[in-house]
Amino acid sequence: MSQQNSTKVVVVGGGLAGTFFAASLMRRVSKKHHLEVTIIDKKDFFEVVGYGTIRSLVSPTYHSNMTHTYSSIASNDHKLVVLSNKKTTNFDLNGKNVTISDITSGESDTIVFDYLVIAVGSSYSSFPNLRPAEGVLADRRANLEKINKDIQGAKHVTIVGGGSVGIELMGELNDHFPSVPVTLIHGKSQLLERTSKDAHSYILNWVEKVNKKRPEASKITILVDDRIDAGSNVTTKGVTLPADTLRFNCTGPKPNTAGFEAFGIPLDESGRIRVDEHLRVEGHTNVLALGDANNVVEEKISNFARLHAKVAAVNISNEVQGKNTQPLKHVPQEYQSVIMLGKSDAIMVQGNSLKGKGKMFAWMKPKIESSIIGVAKNPNAFMSKMFV
Ligand SMILES: Cc1cc2nc3c(=O)[nH]c(=O)nc-3n(C[C@H](O)[C@H](O)[C@H](O)COP(=O)(O)OP(=O)(O)OC[C@H]3O[C@@H](n4cnc5c(N)ncnc54)[C@H](O)[C@@H]3O)c2cc1C
Repeated sequence: MSQQNSTKVVVVGGGLAGTFFAASLMRRVSKKHHLEVTIIDKKDFFEVVGYGTIRSLVSPTYHSNMTHTYSSIASNDHKLVVLSNKKTTNFDLNGKNVTISDITSGESDTIVFDYLVIAVGSSYSSFPNLRPAEGVLADRRANLEKINKDIQGAKHVTIVGGGSVGIELMGELNDHFPSVPVTLIHGKSQLLERTSKDAHSYILNWVEKVNKKRPEASKITILVDDRIDAGSNVTTKGVTLPADTLRFNCTGPKPNTAGFEAFGIPLDESGRIRVDEHLRVEGHTNVLALGDANNVVEEKISNFARLHAKVAAVNISNEVQGKNTQPLKHVPQEYQSVIMLGKSDAIMVQGNSLKGKGKMFAWMKPKIESSIIGVAKNPNAFMSKMFV
């Protein structure tokens, strides 16, 4: 039931930033300042998009560790509504409402807000199935099964992009399909070029080590400072790949903001939503943008999406409860991540240094990812207090 004096908070995008924000906000605001939180998403499920997503390509059963349907999200003292399988078709920022359309029936509805949080994330246009698209969980699982069958039938795999996603995919292919030769092509001279040179060397050593165990005809090859055009099987430097190679493009995530400018949402030249230091959309005090979709200059990773969620939740909870405090600022962070090399090795990078390596990090990352599910499901979970 809607309470008359409730504050209406609408979250577009129930991915990592959106659900963490909702969990954190509902936990922080006391019962007497009642909230009505509405999460809108194109899918009917939450997925931790991370290493587990990549592992699910080679081992689809792993996917169940990384997802839950939105219908299983718990609420607390506040009202939480998840409108799944719905996408936004209009934002009226001044009129304070969002129009949505049902993916299946096309029926539309208008949702009013006091605060709007846009957390629509990003996608890989050349590899759309890397992230869950719109639809139901069963479709996502069927997609992963299809990719897995393609890998099973592949005589050769090409990975384009030596960032964290391409490297983790290489590690998983080595664990699960050691007899399929793999070529990883990276446009820069250094793998993970925005971090340490030591990380690059560690990965090359790892490749050398695993190649000793792989059959002669199925080695992993790394080509740096090279490129390959879509539709071609010859690299810029003239390396010819098998014509029937199975190709995974792990480059260039794009924010899911196409058409947003027409609604008065300011975008930068990469299509990211322009925000101030409090993550408020430029020109608006009650509209925020979080995660991969905003233009904070930092690596677009879940760790930072989580920090955005916390800043937004603290600031909105203080406003709603009438606390007269200075709003928190988000300070752009330096790159920090654990990157898996299969399930028994990993590196941890921070800024420009390689902070750690080895089995312990490989053990830790899947554990952290699966604990995210607990936070996304329940705002009062113990982990929720630790994370957001
Ligand atoms: C394969 C892969 C591996 C990764 N590995 C790591 C890792 O190891 N560590 C790490 O820190 N980061 C990793 N990342 C990055 C991480 O996944 C993102 O930074 C994080 O998911 C960003 O969170 P977000 O909430 O901004 O976006 P998302 O989690 O993508 O959520 C966006 C949500 O918005 C919904 N949506 C989009 N448009 C609309 C619309 N118009 N209407 C309604 N709903 C909409 C989408 O369905 C989605 O649920 C990885 C990314 C990929 C693709």
